Amino acid sequence: MPSLQGKTAFVTAAGQGIGRATALAFAEAGARVIATDVDAGKLGSLASDRITTAALNVLDAAAIKAAAQSAGTIDILFNCAGFVHQGTLLEATEDEWSFAFDLNCRSMFRTMQAFLPGMLDRGKGVILNMASVASNLKGVPNRFIYTATKAAVVGMTRSVATDYVTRGIRCNCICPGTVETPSLGERIEANAQGAGGVDAARAAFVARQPMGRLGTPQEIAALAVYLAGDDAQFITGQAVVIDGGLTL
Ligand code: NAD
Repeated sequence: MPSLQGKTAFVTAAGQGIGRATALAFAEAGARVIATDVDAGKLGSLASDRITTAALNVLDAAAIKAAAQSAGTIDILFNCAGFVHQGTLLEATEDEWSFAFDLNCRSMFRTMQAFLPGMLDRGKGVILNMASVASNLKGVPNRFIYTATKAAVVGMTRSVATDYVTRGIRCNCICPGTVETPSLGERIEANAQGAGGVDAARAAFVARQPMGRLGTPQEIAALAVYLAGDDAQFITGQAVVIDGGLTL
């Protein structure tokens, strides 16, 4: 039997990349999925008999509350929305710091606060947060703000896992290395000039990966399915690394 049969999952940033792959994998595993993204146009082709789509900007507190109300009780919350700021401490601005923490962290604070009461009422629920190896796990060049936000995601995850461990709630986060997604393509483009062209910029990302390749969204999605399912019932509070050896 598919591992998520009978469960309902709510996914943020499901329009492309890891969020999209995970929404599809959750549905493939038997879940009913509510797939959301700020860009509703990216969600159209995702809708199916198992996947309902809805626009949701995770920067909008009222919209999160409304989405949680309309979703009703869910079994799985996958907080995937996040933004990769590129730059060092001396290049970072206050506005960039605020934006990244709002999108990468405050959004999760809000979604978890909106959905947790329903999970507690039922005595069960799984929260998965998207972190990164660029966090408390590893320093990555030119990722000052990003690394700070993702370390905060690991911290929030451990805190929630600790407070609700006796009440049927599991909360874990996923820490990928570099994954082939549309926004990675944008980062490669942004780095092309300094790196000596797009190919060289891409090669630099691949060179960071000891396996000599980037991860795929489907590989991250498969981990999300496992962590969301009952086979992972003994796992909580963990920052699960999936990085092709980047942190070795
Ligand atoms: P992506 O960056 O290519 O796409 C992000 C999606 O988020 C888009 O569909 C976009 O419309 C949506 N989005 C942006 N702002 C939003 C908002 N305010 N509300 C709702 N949705 C919004 O996707 P990705 O590269 O798979 O990244 C997804 C997550 O994975 C992020 O949290 C990222 O930090 C994390 N991550 C990515 C990598 C990687 O190498 N790609 C590695 C580690 C962690």
